[in-house]
Formats: sequence, structure tokens, C-alpha cells
Amino acid sequence: MQKFDVLIVGAGMVGLTLALALRKTSNLTIAIADTLPKSRLIDEPEVRVSAINVASQTIFENLDVWSTIAAQRTQAYQHMHIWDKAGIGKLDFSVSDLNDFPQNEHLGWIIENNVIRNALWDKAQADEGISFFTENKLANIAVGDSELFASFEMPLANENVTSAHVNSHISNSMQTPLIAKLAVGADGANSWLRKQMDMAMISRDYDHHAIVATVKCSQGHKNTAWQVFLPNGPLAFLPVFPKNNDTCSIVYSTSPEEAKRLTELSPTDFAKELTAASDGKLGTIELISNRFTYPLTMRLAQDFVKDRMVLIGDAAHTIHPLAGQGVNLGLLDAASLAQTLSVSTSSQSENDPNITDQKRLKAFARYRKSEAIEMITAMEAIKQTFSINQSGFTLLRGIGMSLLDNFKPAKKRLIEQALGLKSELPELAQQKLK
Ligand SMILES: Cc1cc2nc3c(=O)[nH]c(=O)nc-3n(C[C@H](O)[C@H](O)[C@H](O)COP(=O)(O)OP(=O)(O)OC[C@H]3O[C@@H](n4cnc5c(N)ncnc54)[C@H](O)[C@@H]3O)c2cc1C
Repeated sequence: MQKFDVLIVGAGMVGLTLALALRKTSNLTIAIADTLPKSRLIDEPEVRVSAINVASQTIFENLDVWSTIAAQRTQAYQHMHIWDKAGIGKLDFSVSDLNDFPQNEHLGWIIENNVIRNALWDKAQADEGISFFTENKLANIAVGDSELFASFEMPLANENVTSAHVNSHISNSMQTPLIAKLAVGADGANSWLRKQMDMAMISRDYDHHAIVATVKCSQGHKNTAWQVFLPNGPLAFLPVFPKNNDTCSIVYSTSPEEAKRLTELSPTDFAKELTAASDGKLGTIELISNRFTYPLTMRLAQDFVKDRMVLIGDAAHTIHPLAGQGVNLGLLDAASLAQTLSVSTSSQSENDPNITDQKRLKAFARYRKSEAIEMITAMEAIKQTFSINQSGFTLLRGIGMSLLDNFKPAKKRLIEQALGLKSELPELAQQKLK
């Protein structure tokens, strides 16, 4: 039997952040399981990227991984330009609107998901208190009175060899069940742990598919995150790959039928449509990667906590990517859960940390669920506002956007929201914590 305090299912960006946050704030021992190995970084920009806000950057700084991420490939942006294809509305945000936060030189960062995951993974691997169980599936989990027991499917021979070569902390004795006091599901939108919890979920198809790809723009990206609201949905150009100043990752959310049509176009014709859709603001667009499509669904678990099991990140909630907030929300779940568990450990004897205190876990779940609901509601409002295309409404929308663009207090509030600069943040996300 291998005993741990916490079993984290899913070593994605959120699960790994939780592992490091727990080690930073407590002495808890961690097992982290993932069906996949560490991601392989390639020389080309990867298509899956995330807009990382200031709150998330601060979490990474406080976990001492930001310098590794920054040494890889990160692209800062100082401006955002948002416009309405059907109307006259536009919104411009700039780092100069952030007078109250002079320490911020950027509005945020666009970073390849694998760059973040790799930096977190390397840091976690170097920590004696974190054991990895990778490239195998958990088969079942049984909850007892004081512990839970998890067992793996039979490992495949060559997969274990890979794991064992990577690091001596990586256990390949996966026939042996794991024992933990608490299990955390950070295993993404189709969470296995959520199913084991038999947790009900509210879900709604956004009726959008997102096409992601990498493009070059002849006029450069000008350190700006661009987003145009088209009649069928938003198209974002996010600056990536700091070696060049002309490379962007696109996220094109549109109806499933339109997504199918667009992905079936030749690369040249697809790029021509992108140039037209963006009104030539970034010049002529050239497609330089394959196109990948993701169906978009809103999901919200009915509860984030049940007995000895907790859900965080996409396992607990998924939102529309139009404001690039999904992983930012998940990283705050991780920071907040680490804080909750560290309070529990410090109020108990070190040998018997009461990390399953239901009162504290329920308070964590209420806080994080209300934050997720706020975000889901905001995404819905933005999506609905831009899906009405009658001329009277588009005119009103344009006037509304222009008013907002010129009304400093409301604009400032919007920027603060986007940067994740809220008054109530977990300690790890608060600036200047060291
Ligand atoms: C097109 C698109 C664009 C996006 N852009 C942004 C953006 O700009 N900014 C932003 O903040 N968010 C963005 N998001 C959302 C963001 O990608 C997700 O919120 C984020 O990846 C969730 O991280 P996670 O670690 O919770 O889950 P995941 O990234 O899904 O990681 C889950 C991990 O669990 C593992 N796993 C799965 N099943 C099991 C199992 N049974 N056992 C063990 N391990 C398992 C997986 O291998 C994986 O490593 C976007 C999403 C989409 C679809």
C-alpha cells in the first residue's frame, strides 16, 4: 500500500498547480496521476495557448515557476482591440488604463499550454513530496471511513519503462492500490473522478465550435490581443511566439456548420476568409499550422465537494473561451483549495491533518462555485449580446460600446476583471506575497 495525504487525478495545468501550491503551503504528501506523460515541447509554436492574467501570473511567481515559464516562450500584450463586425462598436484597452496598478506593465500573457504544463511538471518532479503515476488509468476508487483507496488498470509494459526512465519519483508499481485521505479531480471536462462521485452536472451546448490554429499576419500583431465579433461568433488573434512579432494563435468560435465549412477550405482560402473577417487590421493572414476544432459546452458540477472528493478546474466547470478565462478560473480553484487545506493542517497535529473537514471544504466549494457562476453568466451575456444581428440592435450595441470605451470607471472595472484583480483572492494570487 502506498499512502499519501492527497491524490490529485489529472496533471494538467490546474492539477500540477494544486500539487505545488499544497507543497508551498503545507507538508502534505501528494500523489498525482495522469493518463498522459509530460508534454513534449516542439520548436514551432503550439496551437493550444492560454491568455494568462495577472492573478495567474502571480500564482506562478509565488510557486517559483514563473521564471521558468518566462525563460521559455511567453508573449506579453499591452493592448486589446475588440470590435463589432456588424456595427460601429469598438473597445480599446491599454496598459496605460491601469494607473492604479503601476506595477503591471502588461495586460496579460499569451502562453502555449505545454510551456506552462512543462514548467509546473519539472518543478513538481523535483519535489520529494510529490509522486507521479503516469500513463495509466485509475480503474476505481473506494471511499472508506477515514481514507480512500484507488487502484489502477494493469500498466502497459513499455509505458512504465518510459515513466521509470524519466524520474525515480515516478512510481511504476501501479498494481499496488493508493491510499489517500482526500482525492481531487483536476482531470478536465470529462472528469473520471466526477463520474466516480456520481456528481450531477448542469451543461449547455454553446452551439459553437472553436477552430484553433497558428497564423502569420503581414502587418504584425503590435503586442495586441484582437477580437472581432462576427455574426456567428467571436474570432480572436492572440500574439504568440516572441521570436517574431507577426505570429498569432487564432480562436475562431462559430456555428458547428460554419466550423465544418471553414476547416474544409484549403489553407489559402481559409486564410483569405480570416483576412476579410479581421477587416485587414493585421494585414494579410497566412495559415501556418493545422486547424483543430473543439465543440464548446458550458458545464457546472452541482457541487464541487462530496465526502473525501473535490473537483477543481475544468472538472468542476467549463466556460466559453471568448474572454480567455477558463484556466485562470481553475488556477484560482487550485490556490484557494491549497489555502483551505493548509488552514486545516495548521489547526491539527502534523501527523493527523484533518484535511477533510466538511465545513471548510463546503466553504471552499461555495466560494469557487459562486465565482464560476459569475463567469458563466458574464460569458453568456457577452455571447447573447453579440448574437443579435438586427440593424436597430447593432446600432444600439455600437453606441453602448462607444459609451463604455469613453467611460473610464466602467472601463477600468472591466480591465480589472479581465486581469483577475479582485479584492478577494486566495493568498497565492495576491501580488507581492513572498
Ligand atoms: C479553444 C479553447 C481556447 C481556450 N483559451 C483559453 C484562454 O485563452 N485562457 C484561459 O484561461 N482558458 C482558455 N481555455 C480553457 C482552458 O484550456 C481550460 O480551462 C484548461 O485547459 C483546463 O485545465 P485543467 O488542468 O482543469 O484541465 P485539462 O487541461 O483538461 O487537464 C486535465 C488533465 O487530466 C488528465 N486526465 C484526463 N482524464 C484522466 C483520468 N481518467 N485519469 C488521470 N488523468 C486524466 C489529462 O491527461 C490532462 O493532463 C480555452 C479552452 C478552449 C477549448
